[in-house]
Amino acid sequence: MQFKAFEEGIEVNGQTVYAFVDGMGKFKSLGEQYMSNVGIGAMKGGKWLFDVNGWYPQQAWLDAFSTIAAEVGDGVLYTIGRAIPANARFPYGITDIYSAIRAIDIAYHINHRKNGKGCLYDAAAEIMYEGIGHYGYEQAPRKNFILSVSHNPYPCAFDMGIISAMAHKYDTKVMVIHDDSKPCRKNGAETCTYLVSW
Ligand SMILES: [Zn+2]
Repeated sequence: MQFKAFEEGIEVNGQTVYAFVDGMGKFKSLGEQYMSNVGIGAMKGGKWLFDVNGWYPQQAWLDAFSTIAAEVGDGVLYTIGRAIPANARFPYGITDIYSAIRAIDIAYHINHRKNGKGCLYDAAAEIMYEGIGHYGYEQAPRKNFILSVSHNPYPCAFDMGIISAMAHKYDTKVMVIHDDSKPCRKNGAETCTYLVSW
């Protein structure tokens, strides 16, 4: 289901929120206003005061996200998603399209935490902690093909943007499509399936 946190006590870091708002382009001031409406930063004298090093409740962010989505539509959500990898924290060691797509789930866990502790990815032990779902990675039997199943509270078009940006970073000929024959979170399903081929 889009916009509903999987668990309580989940927080997202300021850098990710910043990447999101920055990715809104001409809708940026709208984003700042909606973030402050849910208590993520505050408007003062027409300026959005916000701590990029802070942590913010994931559900508040999703609430703002949901309002923004209703207002700007899927095209803008896709554009915001595409801008995320440029500004958010991603792990090191991305060398090709396989590691690029795999890194999305790691980055997702680096940028969220639960109950005020660390983050949901322990880089030293290479362990991912549960609580926010996943960005799937599956190398399908045929060549030059990756299947990614998104099981997380973010909207379909936004994830499409993130996956496309990461894929295009390492291969410009790549094609990312939403598998319309599978369930979609836009229709209340738990997951969306994206096909990456090149
Ligand atoms: Zn979908």
